[in-house]
Amino acid sequence: MRDLLLDTDGPAVWLAANGLDGRFTADATTVRRLLEAREAIEAAVDGTATEPLDAVLGHGRIRPTLTAEGPGERAEFADPAWGPAWLAARDCLTLLATKPDRIRGCAHEACALHFLDTSRNGGRRWCSMATCGNRAKASRHHARSKEA
Ligand SMILES: [Zn+2]
Repeated sequence: MRDLLLDTDGPAVWLAANGLDGRFTADATTVRRLLEAREAIEAAVDGTATEPLDAVLGHGRIRPTLTAEGPGERAEFADPAWGPAWLAARDCLTLLATKPDRIRGCAHEACALHFLDTSRNGGRRWCSMATCGNRAKASRHHARSKEA
């Protein structure tokens, strides 16, 4: 599996896909902060530590706004390189507040990814059916054909 945070290409795609590329740049500092946020999110989701996520969240704040479009809010950062990491940490916080039981670790033993189970019955087991789901099916098939 390819780690999307090994260089700046993956984060650049992620920023563009989320409409954030006008506000942030995927430079080396931003990627370092994203890696820190990812570790913090892992610890928070696994329940091993809350301090790292809290520390990431300390790098930004929400400013309530009133514009011609009406009331709203805007995230502000002293250091914009913290922006994408902070937004990811805040999304994690929202999930922990609303759907903690739907944040799962992938059931594939060789996969380290977590995912949000949005299935209706909550029975999803893999981060992706296309990758880990099929790998699990293939290895079960392999085990069966070895027994036979
Ligand atoms: Zn997986």
